[in-house]
Amino acid sequence: MKTNKLITLLILTLTLTLFGGCGETAGVAELTTPTAEVTDIADSATADTADSASVEIGDTGDSPSVTPAKSATEIIILHTNDMHGRVLGDDEGVIGIDRIAALHKNTPDSILLDAGDALHGLPIATLSRGADVAALMAAAGYSAMAVGNHEFNYGWARLAELREIAGFAFLASNVVTAEDNEPFLDDTAVIEIGGVRIGLFGITTESAAFSVMPDYVRGLGFQDPVTTARARVEQLRGQGVDVVVAVTHSGTEGDKGTLSTQLAREVPEIDIIIDGHSHTELPQGLTESGVLIAQTSGHGGSLGRIAVTVENGAVTSKTATLIDFEQAQKTAPDQAVTLKLAAISEGLESLLSEVVGESLDEMSSARSPGVRTQEMPLGSLVADAYREASGAEIAIANGGDIRADLPQGAVTKGDIVSVLPFGNTLMVKIITPALLKEILENGVSGIVLDEDGNIDAEQSPQGRFLQVSGFSFAYDPAKPPGERVVSIVLDGGISLDLDDDTTQITLAGSNYVMTGGDYFVMLTGLAVERELGAADEALAEYVRGWSPVGAGELGRITVVTS
Ligand SMILES: [Zn+2]
Repeated sequence: MKTNKLITLLILTLTLTLFGGCGETAGVAELTTPTAEVTDIADSATADTADSASVEIGDTGDSPSVTPAKSATEIIILHTNDMHGRVLGDDEGVIGIDRIAALHKNTPDSILLDAGDALHGLPIATLSRGADVAALMAAAGYSAMAVGNHEFNYGWARLAELREIAGFAFLASNVVTAEDNEPFLDDTAVIEIGGVRIGLFGITTESAAFSVMPDYVRGLGFQDPVTTARARVEQLRGQGVDVVVAVTHSGTEGDKGTLSTQLAREVPEIDIIIDGHSHTELPQGLTESGVLIAQTSGHGGSLGRIAVTVENGAVTSKTATLIDFEQAQKTAPDQAVTLKLAAISEGLESLLSEVVGESLDEMSSARSPGVRTQEMPLGSLVADAYREASGAEIAIANGGDIRADLPQGAVTKGDIVSVLPFGNTLMVKIITPALLKEILENGVSGIVLDEDGNIDAEQSPQGRFLQVSGFSFAYDPAKPPGERVVSIVLDGGISLDLDDDTTQITLAGSNYVMTGGDYFVMLTGLAVERELGAADEALAEYVRGWSPVGAGELGRITVVTS
């Protein structure tokens, strides 16, 4: 089960203590600010990359007339996407960046790419504001990554710093500084392996302009991906590359911006799209207008592998497969990266001991009776934190996300991360009262009454049970599932018409629930209004801001019996 796996991951994170130091360094520091129209990273490959991988990053900057490979040559593109900080491997589904590094190094003529949303998520990512993950990716031999919307979660200035720490290309060809219309980060990169020249450019979903906190992208322009892609393909072909690869954080579904499939239709001159953002597992890729689109389900659960054959300067075959968790276990992790991970994990411990505030009460995370069956003070605190951090009118927190008690007295960052260990982020979507009823119906659908008409603590608990903020509601567990919610009243006393499907309400919740986790499928198709930082960061901020916090009065969730 997903939750157990992540708990294990957290425990590993907290207990790995081998070597000192919290790595904020990477192999390369002398790179200039990447604002030039064309940034060819060929000259600036990190020592790490050149030494440890079977990847030859040649000096190709001024040799567009290079003779194309005549005989058929096969190269391998390995790729990840949406790691959201899942760099530390475990026994239950996360491969680990040290093993990914080894898989890359053991594959001749391969390059390693990421399609974005790597630098933010779990505490191992957020506590160093992305630096540790950026350094680990450099050590693992990544050549380039697309810039995902969550890469902006520390603000654009920090993202530019992370680019320098990483030392490899952060491709965001369509993200420009509004001031001079120049690329904000890297525009294109040309990498030569096995005599094959690969031209790369990157796309960040233009919806990031609206979904990211406004301050974090202020002063940046997000240009049309199709227009950008057409220009970059022409430019790269002009440089004589053999293969054109778009690394995109666009997704194949669920985004308001240009999807990767649409990009392929509009710009079929692209050979391969390495995609991310929608967490869509494509075991054999997806071919659209002759363009091969590849993506993994993310969270470091599999490594994408594309075999590309090039003959006389043209791609003659391209095949996508996935190296899944089980297959990956056959390869031993790269020792140097494992040691770096251990050192970072130790540094994490001291960061987690930081006191963020105080609680007047111990708040229980008991499951049943508890956060999975009834209103609980800790659940309300979490939902309040989501609401405040997001600015949404109302918020929900599923009981399954709440995993540890909040202690009385001093509350540390570690306590907060234990309460919310999943590295979820917050999302805001627009719903209606009718949809809110549907959402709440799912939340209480698992509740079962015993012979005496009380909630059966054995049979009722489900992760989908919701803790709420900004409103109260009443439900009747004696009625059939789907027909239980009796009334919903917004804070301030406005009673909602449960059939009203036009009035708009902004709802905040974790990305897990908001994208359909725990059977909240009614939320899946809705457009994302805003994406925010980590759920645990929101709770830490809330405890810090309202310290001392305490268990308030109950009254948000009422059981009525007919
Ligand atoms: Zn994303």
